[in-house]
Formats: sequence, C-alpha cells, structure tokens
Amino acid sequence: MASGIAQLAQDLRARKTTATELALAALARARARADLNAFITLDENAALAVAQRADAALAAGKAPALAGIPFVHKDIFCTKGIRTTCASRMLENFVPPYDAAVVEKLSAGNAVPIGKANMDEFAMGSSNENSHFGVVRNPWDATRVPGGSSGGSAAAVASGIVPFATGTDTGGSVRQPAAFCGITGLKPTYGRVSRYGMIAYASSLDCAGVLARSAADCAQVLAALAGHDVRDATSVDRMADDYVAALSTTPQGIKIGVVREYFGAGVDTGVAAVVRTALRELEKLGAILVDISLAHAPLAIPAYYVIAPAEASSNLARYDGVRYGHRCADPQSLEDLYTRSRGEGFGAEVKRRILVGTYALSAGYYDAYYLRAQRARRLIANDFSEAFTQVDLIAGPTAPTVAFRLGEKTSDPLAMYAADVNTVAVNLAGLPAISIPAGFSPIQSGVKLPVGLQLIAPAFAESRLLAAAHHFQLATDWHLREPSA
Ligand code: GLN
Repeated sequence: MASGIAQLAQDLRARKTTATELALAALARARARADLNAFITLDENAALAVAQRADAALAAGKAPALAGIPFVHKDIFCTKGIRTTCASRMLENFVPPYDAAVVEKLSAGNAVPIGKANMDEFAMGSSNENSHFGVVRNPWDATRVPGGSSGGSAAAVASGIVPFATGTDTGGSVRQPAAFCGITGLKPTYGRVSRYGMIAYASSLDCAGVLARSAADCAQVLAALAGHDVRDATSVDRMADDYVAALSTTPQGIKIGVVREYFGAGVDTGVAAVVRTALRELEKLGAILVDISLAHAPLAIPAYYVIAPAEASSNLARYDGVRYGHRCADPQSLEDLYTRSRGEGFGAEVKRRILVGTYALSAGYYDAYYLRAQRARRLIANDFSEAFTQVDLIAGPTAPTVAFRLGEKTSDPLAMYAADVNTVAVNLAGLPAISIPAGFSPIQSGVKLPVGLQLIAPAFAESRLLAAAHHFQLATDWHLREPSA
C-alpha cells in the first residue's frame, strides 16, 4: 500500500530508508506510470540535490516534519531554474529566475520535489483536458478525466507515485480532482498561504492548496505553507494555528449544516447517497446534522464565470510576446507581434475566458455583468456568514457526479462549468474547504468510482475542518483505497 507522510517520516527517522531512496523510487513510479501523463517535467537532479540535504538533516537529527518526503508541485508554481509552463504553449520554455513562496517553504523544510505536475492551461478547466501537454488520465479508470485543473497532482497522489502534491484552487481545482481521484484535497482560506510566485489566474479567488491521502497529511503540509508574506498584498498577517495538534479535537457536538441546494438538480443520485451515508458516519462520531439552505447558491456559477474570466483577461494581458513567454516568428508590426504571439501561445479555453472577461469589463457592459456578479458574490458570502451563526461546518457533495469520460464535455463549455457547481461559492466567499473520500458510486455493473464529501468552515477555521475530516478518516477507510495499477 502507498504510504502517507506520517509513515514515511517515521521510516526515515528509523533509518529504514533514506530521502535519496524515496526520491529515486518516486521517480521510478512516475516513469512507470507515464500512461497517466501526470507530469510535465521530472527533474532527477533537482530531486536528488534536495534529498541529499534532507538525508544530512535527518542524520543530524534536526529535520523538519516533511524532510525527505517526495512530492510534486503543480506546474503553476514558479521554480527557480526549472521550467514552469502553466501547461501553456505560452510558457513552454519559461524558466523562472525565482521560487514561489510555496516552493521556498517546502524547500526550506527539505521536502523533495520530483517534478512539475500537469494541469489545465493557466488552471482553467475541470477535467485536465485543456493542457498543452495532453490530457491526464484518472488512475481509477483510464478512460475518464482526473478532474481539474490540478489533475496531474491528483493523479500522481492517487496512483501512489507521491504522498502529496501542491495544487491551486480558484473555483474547485484542488477539491474536485481530489474527489474524482479518491484522495483528500484542502483549499485554505484566501490569504492564508502566499500567492507570491504562483502564476495568476483570477487573483481575488486563487488559493494554493494541498492534495494528499489523508487530512492528517494535509495538516502537515498546511503547517509548512501557512503564514504571512509581505510580497503578497492579500496575504493575511495572522498567526497560523497548530494544525497538527488540532487534529485531536473530536467532532463531538459540532453542528454540520447540510446544504439543501448542494443536493439539487444535476447531482447524481449515487453521489448524493454516498455523501448522505458519510454524513451519518460523522453523526455517529457525535456531530449534529442540521438542514440548511444557502439561498443564493444558484448564483455561484454565473457570478464565478464572469468574475474569474474578467480577472483572467487582465492577468493574462502580460503575455504579449515582448518580455517573456511565446513570441511569434518575424513580427511585421507591434500589433502583429501581440496578435500572433497571443494567438499562437494560448489554447482555446484560455482564449474563450479572455474574450468573455474582456467583454464583461468593457465600458458598456461593466454594470450589466461585472458589477452584478460582484453583487451576487456579496450575497453568496453573506449566506455563508449567516449559516455560520447556526452551524460550525457546512457539508455537501464536492462535485455533482463522479469522474466523467474523456471528451464527454469538451464540446460543451457550459456542461463543463457545471462540474464546479458546489465548489466555486467557497472561493467567492474566500473560505477554507476540504474534499475527503466518502465512498464509491456505481456507474455501471461492477464499476465504481470515488465520491468526495466537501466540508466548508468559516475563514481561518482550517483546524476545525481538518480535525473533523481526520476523525472521519479514523473511522473509515475510503481514503486508504487504491486503484489497481
Ligand atoms: N474549473 C474552474 C475553472 O475552470 C476552477 C478552476 C480552478 O479552480 N483553477 O475556472
């Protein structure tokens, strides 16, 4: 069975293995599972250099918790000297001169990055089918998507290549692929983890997150990542909790609001049944289930798909062929340089978002679209605030369905956007949330796919979220199930 962080950390300290051995084994597994296409870049030299540092720190007996643990970074985090593509032709050959804050923090702890994970181009997508480097396959069923946009990260963890991966979540990109791949995915509060060096998609929504097997492992990684950073103006200057120590708090007496709207139209009955059974498990552990309504939930998808493209259209204006990124051959004029560099560098979905966002922000339409979307965002956030005066956590299915087939939704962007129906509101409100494996739903006779339970907490209550998820995982073994290779 694939080991989690805690087990590996123990083995390293007991001298049963070394960081170098773990790194080489993870690289070998990554190569053996090339069929998943989970990686854009593998970097053995970089991995071994950190592994040696980790081995020295372990030998000296002063290694931090993640020292020597192999993992992969989503290819959206800038890595100094290592190509960072954001899965775009635009950045196909971009080698950053600096590390993202998330990269610095994990390097400082001597965690061992083996490479960069595949993803949807510029994190735009729900299926990992928008990558310039090809689709990623779901380890549970190679004909299905792993979810997106952190699909490579999720597939790498679910297939046992690495015990954890970094991801980003703008509208569900950590939680939804975690759900589709049967692993645990944590999206922290907006501002809890620095965005410095994380390539921007929609800045008011973007969050760095963690994909791992268990909530306990997510707590270890969040402990390494959380903290204030003056280089990110939206990073919050507030002490991080002791997420690992907080895991011991039981769900006894906590109130969990079960959102009526999250079980509404479009939610698969098999998925809903699995999630309801999982909630009863939390009830057995002492939680009190309360039916609640988030009345403005239906506004989340329309508001998100105006705000995210609007911000994206502005963020992506920097890729103009002048400073860095793809530059077309023999430009005839400045206009030609811009048009062809951007036309050649961006894929279809990214272009669609830029067009939608530019339209929504244009003078005549600003009030009708962007301003209205911002008002809807406020109503959605208020619903959550009000609900949290009654309950401690909010729950529902992470995604309305199990992993869908490759190609099933690629010709219908609206159907694809609907995959985010239960995740985007959390980003609009800036809250922390986690997706945990809740069971399996039959899709046809004999075939079953993982289902995720989403738990949502008030801002900065990651400890509460992780503790409830951890106790659920102590009582169940869904998070330990593995796909056959
Ligand atoms: N699927 C959503 C989108 O395409 C969310 C992506 C994300 O969280 N990065 O915008």
